[in-house]
Parts: sequence; C-alpha cells; structure tokens
Amino acid sequence: MNIKDNVREIVANIEKAKADSPISAVKVSLLAASKVQDASAIEEAIAAGITCFGENRVQEAREKWLGLREKYPHIKLHLIGALQTNKMKQALESFYVIQSLDRVELAEEIAKIRKTNGGGRTTEFYIQVNTGEEPQKAGVLPEKADEFITYCIRDLGLPVVGLMCVPPANQPPAPHFALLREIALRNNLLNLSMGMSGDYETAIRMGATCVRIGSGIFGERIIKQMLTPHEILLA
Ligand SMILES: *Cc1c(COP(=O)(O)O)cnc(C)c1O
Repeated sequence: MNIKDNVREIVANIEKAKADSPISAVKVSLLAASKVQDASAIEEAIAAGITCFGENRVQEAREKWLGLREKYPHIKLHLIGALQTNKMKQALESFYVIQSLDRVELAEEIAKIRKTNGGGRTTEFYIQVNTGEEPQKAGVLPEKADEFITYCIRDLGLPVVGLMCVPPANQPPAPHFALLREIALRNNLLNLSMGMSGDYETAIRMGATCVRIGSGIFGERIIKQMLTPHEILLA
C-alpha cells in the first residue's frame, strides 16, 4: 500500500464511521501525524489531498517545513507534541493550531507573548487532557480541566476551541473519548481531537472532529531514536 491508497481508504472509513453514529460530527478533519517523516513522504500525502499536518517537535517541524511551507502555503500545521515554555515563541511563529496546551505556566507565557508580539501564526488552541492520568504523559488532569479551561479563556483571553487526548495504549479508548467529550460539552468547546491509526473510527463514532493519523498513512515509524521518550510510548 502506498500513501495515496492509505489516504483513500482512511477517508472512506471516516465517512463510514460518521454514518454509523448519531453523535458523530458533521465535519471530521483528517490530520496527518508526520513526525519523523521526510519531505518526500509529506509531499506524497499532500498530493493525496491532505491539508492538515501534525508535528510533535518544534525544532523538527521548523527545519522540515521551511521549504514545504513556501511550496504549499495552503497547508495548516498543528503542534500535537509536548511543549516547553522556552520553545513557545517559535511554536507560535510556526503552528496554525497548538493542540497541546496543558498547564498554567505555558498558558501564561503564551498570553505574555501574544500581548507583546501578537499571536504569530497561531489562531487556535486545544487543551490536552490526560484522561488516563498517566504520570509520563502530557495533559491537564481531568479533575483540573474545567478550572484550567476557564482560566485560559476568561482570564488569559486565549482562543481555546477544543480538547485533545491520547488515551493509554493498553486500555480500550472509548471511555477516554467519552470523558473528553463530556468535559468539552460542559465547557462549550466544539472541537474534539481524538483518535489515531488504531482507534479513529471509534473516536469518530464518539464525536471526534479531528483524527490524528500517522502510521495508517505513512506506514510504521522506524526511526525511533529521533523520538523523545514520551513519543516512543506513542509510537
Ligand atoms: C504519533 C501521534 C499520533 C499518530 O499516531 P499513529 O498511531 O501513528 O496514528 C497521534 N497523536 C499524537 C499526539 C502523536 O504523537
């Protein structure tokens, strides 16, 4: 299977999953998780119709997308990996959406930069929720989510539009997707970034508006040494 066939199959599966469930979203965007993929694989995905890409590391994304961005100005880059406060300025310059906002320190730094330098390229934020309460994983804890969401939106004025989660690898994902949806609904957030190669159809049936797919599009990732320990857990 090549990238084009993979994308075609996934798009068809997305449509099927949408038709299956009364709570599925009208529009589900397919984000290609392109960590460790080189420019030629990314260009194949673009040729197959992908317009939305997710990267995990600020530095890798900046290097890889420098040329690609000029060639394909319509592409929207999302940051889906854990973020450090000292990379925030670069992240705001590079990403259209940041999906991994997960702590007060980060949110305050973003608000400060936006005040002095503007928002850069970033127009939307998602808050990542650690639905499995895994110590090694990024994300705000579920019981702290309401407070953090309110702080980001009301006190800091950040354009938070949705929630993101990465469920534990060794558990059925459905309860995690349900929890994320519940938190989003009670906070009036419309977007749910949930579902990866192994569980995106389940996520769509449970209301996902954005699915993040890596290996399903590009094949198994092999260059594991380029990943951080957190990402190896996901790989
Ligand atoms: C790598 C990654 C994905 C995609 O994972 P696959 O299982 O390869 O589809 C999705 N979300 C995040 C945050 C990732 O790091």
